[in-house]
Amino acid sequence: MANPTQYQFDLPKKGRPSEVILNEPWYPGIQKYWSSCTTKRSVDPILGIKAVVIHATAGSSSEGAISVMKQPEPASFHWLVPDENEPQHGYFVWACVPEALAAWHVRNSVSHKDVNENAKKVNHWSLGIEVVNTQISDPFSTWQIEATARIVRYCWAKYPNLAHVVSHARLDPDRRADPGSNFDWNKFKELVLNGENDSVSDLVALATPATKIKNSAAQGCCSG
Ligand SMILES: [Zn+2]
Repeated sequence: MANPTQYQFDLPKKGRPSEVILNEPWYPGIQKYWSSCTTKRSVDPILGIKAVVIHATAGSSSEGAISVMKQPEPASFHWLVPDENEPQHGYFVWACVPEALAAWHVRNSVSHKDVNENAKKVNHWSLGIEVVNTQISDPFSTWQIEATARIVRYCWAKYPNLAHVVSHARLDPDRRADPGSNFDWNKFKELVLNGENDSVSDLVALATPATKIKNSAAQGCCSG
């Protein structure tokens, strides 16, 4: 059986995707809770990002996962991947915290020698993904694995110093086992590294790339 405390792979310097588009609406009303469950990053919010941490919620719904952001001692995460019995499953992931802020998904005191040279305060230099899964005889859907891989590819394209993809269990093996032995880490790794998952929607594909847009719209307007 797979051991989640071993889940880690590092992203190669070559093969970084040039652009990955993520369909990620805000979870409704979530903005209200940011002030009580996030921190300003201690590192540059683009260049300082070194890791993505994969979690599973140990609950059965997105609603339940979001509720932790509203508790007196809150936790938080950047993205939430819906479960197979939720209407959003198969369509999009929820954005929950702005990437520029540190979400609270890993204890400050833990570290791992293979992840950013044993640095603590992982939240400051990482992004966190929660996948809805009870962790008790609950298989992850193929789409959940694909969607999680797509988020990581989006991050890989965006953050030039992103190096590590790691489970919560590896960072905090004494207290956490997520995303659990049911999460197909090998398949997930393959999707992240090979990018079979990068196709964009037809509507996005119809847009003119910004590099090809001529600078003509501002003529005769708005000067001075
Ligand atoms: Zn976790």
